Amino acid sequence: MSEPTRHGTIPIELPHLFDEVEPDPVEGCAGCAALAQVREWARATGDRTTITDANVLMRRHPEGHR
Ligand SMILES: [Zn+2]
Repeated sequence: MSEPTRHGTIPIELPHLFDEVEPDPVEGCAGCAALAQVREWARATGDRTTITDANVLMRRHPEGHR
């Protein structure tokens, strides 16, 4: 009784958590401008947490965009 050899190596693709598309600041929005500035500073210092925070805030703007 010989069982066929199984190659159970299924490539698992990890979600690119730190590779998400960054939102663009909306023109004329002071909040976006501030967040873009913060994001730039964070990028300069390699602060990924702050970059992500700025992106999240920019995407889900508290006041929204009109
Ligand atoms: Zn905005």
